[in-house]
Amino acid sequence: MQNPEDILKRLGIYEPSDIDLDLIAFSLNAQVKRVALTECEGSIIGTTAKAIISINSNAHPKRQRFSLGHELGHWVNDRGPKMPFRCDTNAMRQRENRPGDFGQHREVRANAFAADLMMPVFIWKKYCEALDVTSDSIRCAANMFNVSLTSAAIRLVEKSIYPCMIICWDRYGKRQWFSRNSNVPENIWPIERVIHPNKYFVTSNALQIDADKWIESENSNEYTLIESVFTNGTDFIVVLWWKDEKQLLIEINN
Ligand SMILES: [Zn+2]
Repeated sequence: MQNPEDILKRLGIYEPSDIDLDLIAFSLNAQVKRVALTECEGSIIGTTAKAIISINSNAHPKRQRFSLGHELGHWVNDRGPKMPFRCDTNAMRQRENRPGDFGQHREVRANAFAADLMMPVFIWKKYCEALDVTSDSIRCAANMFNVSLTSAAIRLVEKSIYPCMIICWDRYGKRQWFSRNSNVPENIWPIERVIHPNKYFVTSNALQIDADKWIESENSNEYTLIESVFTNGTDFIVVLWWKDEKQLLIEINN
């Protein structure tokens, strides 16, 4: 099994602009075709030695790029009797394993592979780990790595050296998923349901807000956070930054 970092280093790729997924596919004996697909965003068929990956040519270029990264994940990790795969947007959105659902585990793994191939940690750290946790930084990272705002925001939060969290709600205010980075204690939770989505889901960049707007704890009414909000067209993504790290002590000490 090959991991994305080894694949990139073997090809001499050490800069974001050099991450050419078609070249990577070529080096892995996978041929890439761009065709109009109606029921999925990407598919892969092949033997154990060679594969053909089809990518939906009607999708947004960044969507196509992610789809290719995802199918390459199947190629590296799932080749053999489990192929072929046909993957839709739902499969490409899976982030957390559901117990016992092994088909879904493969999708989660393919998505993680795509993220590690397109935003490899050894390159990401050089440019992005110390960026302010704001919409401006997310936009800058998304451009640098040629990925969606949501993908860049997840990576920014996961790898930031600052305490921060990312939360996704649907447009009705129901929480879909969230992720805190390792600098945020696990007893800090985002609210599960936003009661007034129209009032709360307003695009912002590095706005100082009361923590209890988004955080559910006894002490979240005692301090402020830096908020950045954007939409991916379907859901709302909220990124929170404990810029003044002393504020975290209010949560820890109580
Ligand atoms: Zn898939």
